[in-house]
Amino acid sequence: MVAKTMDQLVSLCKRRGFIFQNADIYGGMQGVYDYGPLGVELKNNLKQAWWRSMVYERDDIEGLDAAILTNRKVLKYSGHEDTFSDPMVDCKKCKGRFRADHIDGKCPNCGSTDLTEPRPFNLMFKTMTGPVESADNLAYLRPETAQAIFTQFKNVVDSTSRKLPFGIAQIGKSFRNEITPRNFIFRVREFEQAELEFFVMPGEDEKWHEIWKEARIKWWEEQGLKRENLNIYTTPKDDLAHYAKACYDIEYQFPHGMEELEGIANRRDYDLGNHTKGQEEFKLEAHVHENKESTTKLCIRDDDSNSWVVPYVIEPSMGVDRGVLALLTEAYKEEDLGEGNSRIVLKLKKHLAPIKVAVIPLKKNNEQIMAKCHEIKQNLLKLGIGRVALENTGNIGKAYRRHDEVGTPLCITVDFETIEQQPESVTIRDRDTMEQHRVNVADLPNYLRDYFAR
Ligand code: ATP
Repeated sequence: MVAKTMDQLVSLCKRRGFIFQNADIYGGMQGVYDYGPLGVELKNNLKQAWWRSMVYERDDIEGLDAAILTNRKVLKYSGHEDTFSDPMVDCKKCKGRFRADHIDGKCPNCGSTDLTEPRPFNLMFKTMTGPVESADNLAYLRPETAQAIFTQFKNVVDSTSRKLPFGIAQIGKSFRNEITPRNFIFRVREFEQAELEFFVMPGEDEKWHEIWKEARIKWWEEQGLKRENLNIYTTPKDDLAHYAKACYDIEYQFPHGMEELEGIANRRDYDLGNHTKGQEEFKLEAHVHENKESTTKLCIRDDDSNSWVVPYVIEPSMGVDRGVLALLTEAYKEEDLGEGNSRIVLKLKKHLAPIKVAVIPLKKNNEQIMAKCHEIKQNLLKLGIGRVALENTGNIGKAYRRHDEVGTPLCITVDFETIEQQPESVTIRDRDTMEQHRVNVADLPNYLRDYFAR
């Protein structure tokens, strides 16, 4: 059984330290969350899995980590200043503000029908650089990570001697002043994105769009999402943004419904075309914003045609927080153990589990047992498998329960037999089967190396 309600996930996340409401002690801040001790591990593991599959396993992608503070001109020419807005209506009675496409003529807060006409509301957070608050010093917190990939295109090409097709990948924070943040970490005001801009020759874009769609579905399956819980939504031609040629959304069956987890768009030459110098020299296909301020031509040499081209771009863009929510939804199980017993278990893939191995003393106030636990923990850390935690609650039943709930694949218990008998051995308990067996301490490194390589 997968998680049935968001409440079950929210409750587990708070109880076990995955995700907390930001500024909880002051009543919280809407649409902003903090990742706790285990949430940070889970999120890092997901980001690492993405980075590994994009940058390390392939030979045609480079990484980037650009600034969050964004020069106004970037978002002017990208089109965000003009168009990055949702039509909003205000309720004249309770002063609530809602997305026009989310209501049907009635205020969802107070029920009043006394509403304003829909008007655009810009979703970008503004800030100032330097000591003087003036229009010249206006900057934005980026609403997506992608723009810096476009503005750094030439620097990356020049420093890596890349030829088409190739991509630039980036993971980082983005900010949108969402009007109606909701559904836990699904729609928030501060979130993380993992975005790839994959640059291709015009004409090869449709082929690459299909390749990336398939690759991304496969990757999500490798992270543990079942294919039957995914849906591929193809945006109808009439609903596409003017610059997009085609767009797929990978949707996931979240507790609140089938919704977007990742978008995969064919954006043609719109983005590089917007930011390039000398727009008139290139036969740009997309309808771009006229740009007289760019100092650099964002093009690449095509050896076949012996000409300079502004590449097309295929953009798979995933929300990391939505990814975490999907993983939690998929992994959450309540199991009936018979005889009135049950357990909650997070069946996360082992590469994503926040804690890989918990080392548990059978008795916490026994010095010898504790010393052995410390020694085993430090040795296992050297394997580089991720977090190995010393669990010092000292109550074995509670420790197993806790580690089932946070998805720890293996628990190692150090008991009296470990310290009293030769060769030294420990009990290993498997999260999913709950089966236990004895392994010699000397064999632990190989055992775990094999287990986590599988
Ligand atoms: P939506 O239609 O749900 O607002 P979008 O189409 O505007 O999303 P994109 O601009 O395509 O989203 O951003 C790419 C990805 O970033 C989305 O697929 C989503 O996973 C994530 N994302 C976008 N906005 C948010 C948000 N407010 N909170 C969390 N994740 C977000």
